[in-house]
Amino acid sequence: MVQTVDSSLERSRSIETDSSKITYENCNNCGSNARCRRRSFSKQAWTVLLLWKEVNPNAIEKPICDDCYKELRDVLIDRADEIEASLDQEESSLKKKLSHLAS
Ligand SMILES: [Zn+2]
Repeated sequence: MVQTVDSSLERSRSIETDSSKITYENCNNCGSNARCRRRSFSKQAWTVLLLWKEVNPNAIEKPICDDCYKELRDVLIDRADEIEASLDQEESSLKKKLSHLAS
């Protein structure tokens, strides 16, 4: 069941990737009407931004404005050394859950 949902999400994402055009719309992060663009943060970057509560969950892999992009990019640069640690934590908690399921 979950598998099906995931793959359909994956499909719609790959369609969106083709359009890199700039549009004026409400920023998915701060809500202001501005020039918004889908940003090329990696999945890991979005994950840590979410973990640190630096980004609105609704803005993940969605168009955001220039101001938000600069802010998030600065956060990623400032805390670059924390990214790996955060992701490791995330992964080990996931592994714990999985091993619990398997036992
Ligand atoms: Zn914004």
